[in-house]
Amino acid sequence: MEVSIPKCEVCNACEPDRTLEASDGTRFGVSTSNLHRFSGAFPAPGSVNTDSTAYEVVVLPETAHVVRLMVQFIHPGVRQPAIWQIETPWQLAEAVEKYMIFPALEVVKARVRSLAAKYPIQVFIYAARHGHDDLLPDVEKPIGLADYHSMENTLQILYAEPPWVIKAFHR
Ligand SMILES: [Zn+2]
Repeated sequence: MEVSIPKCEVCNACEPDRTLEASDGTRFGVSTSNLHRFSGAFPAPGSVNTDSTAYEVVVLPETAHVVRLMVQFIHPGVRQPAIWQIETPWQLAEAVEKYMIFPALEVVKARVRSLAAKYPIQVFIYAARHGHDDLLPDVEKPIGLADYHSMENTLQILYAEPPWVIKAFHR
């Protein structure tokens, strides 16, 4: 089926050859080479049959807002999104970890850390899900867990069940 690929929203230089569709149906054209260079775990329909799936639409569970930010992050030579103005970056943080958007990982983590006093539970969940033990001291006090070992026990339980994304994308 012929599918027209949306133009790149971020730049004029790249030639999108793949379509990402957000949860609300908004579509984004992206270049596969950018995806492969800057993402470690993006769904790859082309891995089965390159020719017939080159123009396949990749449907993502993330919102258009999050997909738009990710598309910006996988662009070389383009200023990164204004991550410090995002008040609740949890969905973005989940997405960049899930798809391993390399240019976004550390800066998004830094943004999440900066919110530890205000949103300690969310930061704790993020830290636990993605193994960011170095964030734990930041949330220990706000959450009110004086006993650090109780957090360690919680983490051991969480680590025993790897995130679904690991199973889904590292087969
Ligand atoms: Zn572009």
